[in-house]
Amino acid sequence: MIKQRTILKPFSMTGIGLHSGAKVSVAFRPAPENTGIVYTRTDLNPHVVMKCSPDNVRDTQLCTALVNDNGVRISTVEHLTAALSALGIDNLFVDVDAPEVPVMDGSAQPFIYIFASIGIQELNAPKLFIRVKRKVRVENEGKWAELFPSKSGFHLDLQIDFNHPAMDRDKQHFSMNFTGEAFASELSRARTFCFMRDVEYMHSHNLALGGSLDNAVVLDENKVVNPDGLRYENEFVKHKLLDAVGDLYMSGYSILGNFKAYKTGHDLNNRLLRALLSDTSNYELISFADKQDTDAEAIDFLDSKKSLTAF
Ligand SMILES: [Zn+2]
Repeated sequence: MIKQRTILKPFSMTGIGLHSGAKVSVAFRPAPENTGIVYTRTDLNPHVVMKCSPDNVRDTQLCTALVNDNGVRISTVEHLTAALSALGIDNLFVDVDAPEVPVMDGSAQPFIYIFASIGIQELNAPKLFIRVKRKVRVENEGKWAELFPSKSGFHLDLQIDFNHPAMDRDKQHFSMNFTGEAFASELSRARTFCFMRDVEYMHSHNLALGGSLDNAVVLDENKVVNPDGLRYENEFVKHKLLDAVGDLYMSGYSILGNFKAYKTGHDLNNRLLRALLSDTSNYELISFADKQDTDAEAIDFLDSKKSLTAF
């Protein structure tokens, strides 16, 4: 049986909020089976609880944000969510004392490192997967994203299309078979990126006040400004794919299927997930409760011993 997972013990950390620039604390606590990923705003009285779900994603402007009916929000959840997806963590309490999760270094790597260091425990319930049964596609102004059935596992394929001297055309496409290990080594360190002109605009509108060269790749008209350059030669497309992994895990269920997209972003990714889940003939929820049911790639996907230990 492939089992649901949570973390082994509570842990808390601090970092900078991307939007506010203020110090933010986040505490992680183990959660029982079938809880899902549950956020609590501990700075509000009474506390506000929000479950991670595609329907609660109501702002995708600069990040992926959960927003409830009263407008209470928790922003910048996508890199954390991507790390949870890679580690197969289905159940977790996340307590934040601010309207956003700390941005850390702009990638998912700090979260991968922390969860792998804390340790992961299996729970006594089968892990649920969404198996894509029928092709679903969303489009907007020439950008598109689709999910379609795969014979096995979760395959990712993304093309971006930036016309910039520092973004080589032949490094704007990336595809991979998703596993916890592949995510950790190939995608997790890819950072958010932005253009200098956008930084100036955002700061003048009191946005992204915590953004800096410590948590983003910044490009001017010709080059990458960060003195240490890029972490991967194709860091830009890899970060967009990291975002997609996080956005597609907002249901809390790992996907078995093919994801293919062109110039997608948080909005299209969320619309794609909602479109998939809007019609029960598009997918089935499955588990691998018995050994003989276990599909080789689903095991490969998550069940390797390595994903239970530090990368
Ligand atoms: Zn991102």
